[in-house]
Amino acid sequence: AEKVRIGIVGYGNLGRGAELAVEKNPDMELAGIFTRRDPNTIQTATNANVYCQDNIRSFQDKLDVLILCGGSASDLPEMSPELARLFPIVDSYDNHAKIPDHYKKVNQAAEEAGKLAIISAGWDPGLFSLNRLLGEIVIPDGGTHTFWGKGLSQGHSEAVRRVEGVKKGVQYTVPMEEILEDARNGKGEDLTAAERHKRVCYIVADEKDHARIEEEIKTMPDYFAPYDTTVHFIDEETFDSEHQKMRHGGFVIRSGNSSKAHKQAMEFSLTLESNPEFTASVLVAYARAAYHLHKKGETGAKTPFDIPFSAMTHKTSAEIMKDLL
Ligand code: NDP
Repeated sequence: AEKVRIGIVGYGNLGRGAELAVEKNPDMELAGIFTRRDPNTIQTATNANVYCQDNIRSFQDKLDVLILCGGSASDLPEMSPELARLFPIVDSYDNHAKIPDHYKKVNQAAEEAGKLAIISAGWDPGLFSLNRLLGEIVIPDGGTHTFWGKGLSQGHSEAVRRVEGVKKGVQYTVPMEEILEDARNGKGEDLTAAERHKRVCYIVADEKDHARIEEEIKTMPDYFAPYDTTVHFIDEETFDSEHQKMRHGGFVIRSGNSSKAHKQAMEFSLTLESNPEFTASVLVAYARAAYHLHKKGETGAKTPFDIPFSAMTHKTSAEIMKDLL
């Protein structure tokens, strides 16, 4: 069978993860990595070809699906609609408050071009979203509780790194333990994400900028403004030795009642040693779905809710029915 030819756009953490994830999927091959930087300056993990992103249009016959690995804060809002006009795409857009707006723009672009785009894939949004919906479907009388971490959030770290004067920065999301336990017992559903978690930032910056940076982070809309946020300024050496791992994870808990007599609970959890490598693995599965569904004639923007598992696997329907049903 012919392999699905994948293009990776953007070679940061997620782009590197995608390169490795393609290698784990025998029905796929990497056609190339595209960057806005000088391709000659980029050292890849697998000796993949690196191209200038400006030339991506000339690859329309050479690759099947693009995995967009740019940042959600300022790359994807422009890149996703633009590239959805040229190729089937998958992105991991994770600014939850703005997903409906992102969907609208990508959908219009993809519909006009007759292409298929899958947006907001990954683990949250992505696998967590699927489990939130599944929980609501099977326990209609109940509550849904999402917790993140303790872990490093790439989206939020990227947002703090874009604040002027920040040389290095990370953000950890920390769930409140006692509230996690309450959730399993069906309590605390009305709590907001901000009441369930703290946000803790570690920043390297010149001392003269500290006060302004702290203020800009704490007041950043959607990302930090509603949260209990702490900003620590540390030296570069401490940063390099203590804040390089990208562990993450979390929980989606649905608890409720099927009758007056019986409580029910379901829980999905992730423990990730590398957030970007895991996220990229999910993106690669959705890239396979984008390829197959587009071949069947589907167009426009889709979210993970719209994509059947059977389109995401390389196995046949007969195989998954026999082995996994
Ligand atoms: P990075 O900051 O590592 O990369 C973002 C872009 O910046 C790259 O595509 C790259 O583009 C550019 N870049 C990377 N390194 C450099 C460098 N040294 N110098 C200059 N430019 C560079 O972000 P991540 O890969 O960690 O994350 C990308 C997005 O993934 C996040 O914004 C987040 O929203 C999303 N995400 C979503 C998840 C989900 O579950 N849905 C989970 C995790 C992340 P170029 O090569 O063109 O220069």
